[in-house]
Amino acid sequence: MSTQFPTLSVPNWQSLITGARPSLHGRIGNDNLTPYTFDSIFTSSMNVGMKNGISGDAWWSILLNGHLTPFYGDGTSPTLTNNFGDASYTHGHSDRNKDIAYNQRFHAAINSQTVVRRSNGSYDIIQFDYDLFLSYYGDIDGVSHSFGAQSSQTQSAIDDKVAFVRAGINAITAIDAVTQTRTVFIITSDHGHVNVGGHGGDAHTLKTVPLIVYAKDSQLASVQNSLPIYSTFDTVDIATTIAALLGVPVPRQSEGSFISPLISALVPASKWHHFCFDDHRYMVVDDDDRTIGHLCQCVPSY
Ligand SMILES: [Zn+2]
Repeated sequence: MSTQFPTLSVPNWQSLITGARPSLHGRIGNDNLTPYTFDSIFTSSMNVGMKNGISGDAWWSILLNGHLTPFYGDGTSPTLTNNFGDASYTHGHSDRNKDIAYNQRFHAAINSQTVVRRSNGSYDIIQFDYDLFLSYYGDIDGVSHSFGAQSSQTQSAIDDKVAFVRAGINAITAIDAVTQTRTVFIITSDHGHVNVGGHGGDAHTLKTVPLIVYAKDSQLASVQNSLPIYSTFDTVDIATTIAALLGVPVPRQSEGSFISPLISALVPASKWHHFCFDDHRYMVVDDDDRTIGHLCQCVPSY
């Protein structure tokens, strides 16, 4: 996927959760942290009574103040070291311990929301009670600043995260199996790094981030991407697509499109009561007409 310019964290975080580019939302640096005033996937889901939450750096809890479900939302960790702004990264700096703390909070969220209900004395129902959860890790960025993107330290930070993600997916899919639900895992990033470490500019490695999606039994790997080979997805498409997967309104200021291969693979065809198409934009509306895609200027299908 293409990420947003400038390739800094906070502007791209806002684009990921609101679908608005920095040219629209106006946030172009990591300083002056104030709550996001734009609609987000968090406000969209909270407004229809869904439960959302986050774990990760405390910056998120400042930015998402007012976006999170009360008593559920904030599983962030206070910043353990002073790294406010990328300029303060020094050689040898690592955020590994911070990520371990973030991951513990993520698993605490999984466990704290586990509801055990004994139905007939022999059967427990266990439930991860969030509809939307964002889990953030910062160490890959930290060690890339310190040692360079190609360093062994960066590779070991990536290996750590692979283990964290695997444990998180295992914990939640175990709950899914009991509750007959299917959680969709979306893994992406805010920006890349140049080889020597650092970001903010428009080099290809900075503007290209992965998008990895997993849902049990989804057959996603066999889905054909119908987009032209020269086309690519964009991080502003993430908020729009998550809104469609949840069946909630697209954040009002989103500039993104629906990532069509994911929608067609993950949203049951029975939900496609209205299905609009204008070369690359789709709208999915559920039985209650809850997804109102303002980007899609077409009449409901019939
Ligand atoms: Zn950074």
